[in-house]
Amino acid sequence: MSTNDCLFCKIIAGEIPSKKLYEDDEMLAFYDINPMAPLHFLIIPKKHIENLMELDVSDSGLIGKLFYKAQELAKEQGCEQKGGRFVINTKTDGGQTVDHLHIHFLGGRALGWPPG
Ligand code: AMP
Ligand code: ZN
Repeated sequence: MSTNDCLFCKIIAGEIPSKKLYEDDEMLAFYDINPMAPLHFLIIPKKHIENLMELDVSDSGLIGKLFYKAQELAKEQGCEQKGGRFVINTKTDGGQTVDHLHIHFLGGRALGWPPG
């Protein structure tokens, strides 16, 4: 999929609105439109990387920054004490529906395991 067809690239470009939590040169965090927990946000790189399987070694610093910011935001949003779940659904078996790498954070309730 080219970046022109990508929903999250359109959100980054401001062509589709989102409820932003955080933005800098490299990443954007916004609330999930269909929350699965009281706190459910996504954090994405501005670089179009389709999924975790497409990660290049040169992107390893970027993924570290995404996780670092994700945990900062989760703490800011009140989930430091009880935690939550950082998830990267990947390709078909992982249930990925948007082909632009994203970390979900889900918190604010106890989550079941294993996933269905
Ligand atoms: P995944 O299934 O892991 O690919 O996650 C994609 C996520 O994007 C789902 O949780 C959707 O609810 C969310 N999503 C889809 N469209 C939007 C949108 N316009 N704004 C915010 N979140 C969205
Ligand atoms: Zn994209």
